[in-house]
Amino acid sequence: MSVSENLQALRASLKPGVRLVAVSKTMPVSVLREAYDAGQRHFGENKVQEITLKQPEMPQDVLWHFIGHLQTNKVKYIAPFVHLIESVDSLKLLKEIDKQGARNQRVINCLLQFYIADEETKFGLDRSEAQSLMEAMQSEKLNHVAILGVMGMASFTDDQAQIRNEFKQLKGHFDWLKNEWFATDERFCEISMGMSGDYQIAMEEGSTNVRIGTGIFGVRVYNK
Ligand SMILES: *Cc1c(COP(=O)(O)O)cnc(C)c1O
Repeated sequence: MSVSENLQALRASLKPGVRLVAVSKTMPVSVLREAYDAGQRHFGENKVQEITLKQPEMPQDVLWHFIGHLQTNKVKYIAPFVHLIESVDSLKLLKEIDKQGARNQRVINCLLQFYIADEETKFGLDRSEAQSLMEAMQSEKLNHVAILGVMGMASFTDDQAQIRNEFKQLKGHFDWLKNEWFATDERFCEISMGMSGDYQIAMEEGSTNVRIGTGIFGVRVYNK
């Protein structure tokens, strides 16, 4: 199946209102173009170097999601154009994003990434870290970031019950943040969860934003 056929089939399988982010990491711009020409506008990348190389090569109405671990010293490279940083996992990072937002005279949209998998290799906050982050944020006056919701990655496992349980945890973190800190903020409405193998479960558990790579572009080949 071609990229556009994959996209068509995927779109038909999405619940109404769920956004599809095409995760194009490792794919060449020519392949991103195919997706763009098939109507895709949201693209996800996980490396600063790669997203900054691709962005000028693609049409300017692409909405770029940064979905990987982000080092504070690299925020400045994506701040001018990024649509949504999905992987905020510390106050230090959030403050740097705010600073670079101010420099670029824009408000940068962010999600708080939560750790829900039982794998040590994955990044993200737990509930108490998120609590501290939110408390610290109150006194900081960060006017150039907007927190739109949460993001998480389930464990890499065939155990569907475990995956569902991890997505339920993320939904629980979202509900808690919404009630405690964002009750009157309508912008806070996003739950980014679900990848090629688990997006159906994620949608059943309340995902608003699925991030799909393999299901659109095929299996990734990593050089080196
Ligand atoms: C690579 C990646 C995806 C997409 O994974 P697929 O299994 O190829 O759909 C989604 N989210 C994040 C954070 C990723 O790094």
